[in-house]
Amino acid sequence: MNDATLATRPASAPGRTEHVDVLIVGAGISGIGGAYHLTTQRPGTSFVVLEAQADFGGTWRTHRYPGIRSDSDLHTFGYRFKPWTGVPIATADEIRHYMGEVIADNDLARHIRYHHRITAARWSSAARLWTIEAIRSDTDEAVRFTASFLWMCQGYYRHEKGYTPHWEGMETYRGRIVHPQTWPEDLEYAGKNVLVIGSGATAATLVPAMAKDVAHITMLQRSPTYFRSGRNAIALAEELRELQVDETWIHEIVRRRILRDQALFTERTFREPDAVRAELIAAVRAELGPDYDVATHFTPRYRPWRQRLAFVPDGDLFKGIVSGKASVVTDRIERFTEAGVMLVSGRELKADIVVTATGFDLCVLGDIAFTIDGRKLDFADTVTWRGIMFTGVPNLVWVFGYFRASWTLRADLVGDFVCRMLGHMQAKGARQVEVALREEDRDMKLLPWIDAENFNPGYMLRGMHLLPKRGDKAEWAHTQDYWTEKDAIPATDLDDAAFVYR
Ligand SMILES: Cc1cc2nc3c(=O)[nH]c(=O)nc-3n(C[C@H](O)[C@H](O)[C@H](O)COP(=O)(O)OP(=O)(O)OC[C@H]3O[C@@H](n4cnc5c(N)ncnc54)[C@H](O)[C@@H]3O)c2cc1C
Repeated sequence: MNDATLATRPASAPGRTEHVDVLIVGAGISGIGGAYHLTTQRPGTSFVVLEAQADFGGTWRTHRYPGIRSDSDLHTFGYRFKPWTGVPIATADEIRHYMGEVIADNDLARHIRYHHRITAARWSSAARLWTIEAIRSDTDEAVRFTASFLWMCQGYYRHEKGYTPHWEGMETYRGRIVHPQTWPEDLEYAGKNVLVIGSGATAATLVPAMAKDVAHITMLQRSPTYFRSGRNAIALAEELRELQVDETWIHEIVRRRILRDQALFTERTFREPDAVRAELIAAVRAELGPDYDVATHFTPRYRPWRQRLAFVPDGDLFKGIVSGKASVVTDRIERFTEAGVMLVSGRELKADIVVTATGFDLCVLGDIAFTIDGRKLDFADTVTWRGIMFTGVPNLVWVFGYFRASWTLRADLVGDFVCRMLGHMQAKGARQVEVALREEDRDMKLLPWIDAENFNPGYMLRGMHLLPKRGDKAEWAHTQDYWTEKDAIPATDLDDAAFVYR
């Protein structure tokens, strides 16, 4: 892949095409990680990172609502290769600062092109190349690249706009409706009554962050969510720091401890879900006191871990409720009124501002029109190899992280895999690789991307028909299981019949 014919040519003048070995889509945590892995593991590979927005950060740039923070610890949400030295639950600013250091330390900025929205990707089997069309949002210029390999790091949801269901009467509401994904910079909420619809991690972040300033804030949920709370600190990291242990070691040791504890916890949610459920609910009761109606507002109907478990650092959501500044209502919206929302129970909740923390719009592969040799590619017609590659789609990988563990754990695993694959292709003299079902997979049952019994957040259920299919074997599924994949992906035999080279 690094031969002279694939070398980078100077930047594109209008009508010129720039060629790279690898084109990375997106400068979020996955894309910046990809750039690092290529630089360190495949020096000499020419590559660009194309990013639609004006700066890096992805999720941590798009979301600007009050209090925006991670709900994973940054020892595992951070990269394997760069120690995290702050408190475990980090703000978006802190995460972007950390990513900025990775860019600066590894001289990655020269590879990143901002304001480049990719609109189309065409594979040609004759040329064994992807042709990528992008529009520059700063100049409206159309630009074209060719790339031997596409590394899709565009995330899984549409960045421009969040998901807001339609409720009758919305247009009659006199207040302001905002979605956390497109938070208006001019939104004044001090002294106002605010209603937040939803009770996922976003709502649990927004409510305590806004509670200090508003007159009152209500979290309205259809049904309760599981929360865990605790100190925003890791005692082991604190102790190792006190002993002046090197930060590189602290990062690795704390990662291992967290991953072991998470594995034990996840395993318990399957083995003894009732016991875990009772523990989680008892912990919330301890925060809210014996008189609070935990049965109605904090006792979910689903098994723990079927949706992402939100962490509440320092119990701030519960403190807001105990202080009386925040409250929770569990009910359904019948319609909007001029003053707020009318609930099915007949109660009206009045509010000056309604925040719809109702989730994302799933977006498969960045709203890019893909074709293969002139034929439109619908990813829903493909079968995925480990959620990374897709049958019939040459020279393309997608970083789709974990839900039960930090996303970045998988970004690092996929990074190693891609670099190994590129080396393998070079050694074989192959210019094309794609996955194909093997003889033994011919009768394999094809299923939706994810088992809804196992994990079923709303955006996945709404968008499942758009996603590739999985098989009933681990190598033909995104198992969401870091603890087996951390060994299985590096051990993949790249000469297995599932990989077809040309
Ligand atoms: C509010 C919020 C909090 C979260 N917290 C956590 C957490 O604590 N732990 C966790 O593990 N996960 C969390 N997640 C999931 C999170 O999205 C991922 O962890 C991670 O940040 C995704 O990184 P990414 O780089 O793969 O994708 P993204 O962050 O989505 O970045 C993708 C980038 O690609 C760009 N892009 C997309 N399409 C195109 C195109 N056509 N052309 C050019 N550029 C394009 C986008 O502009 C964006 O910058 C959270 C998600 C949200 C929304």
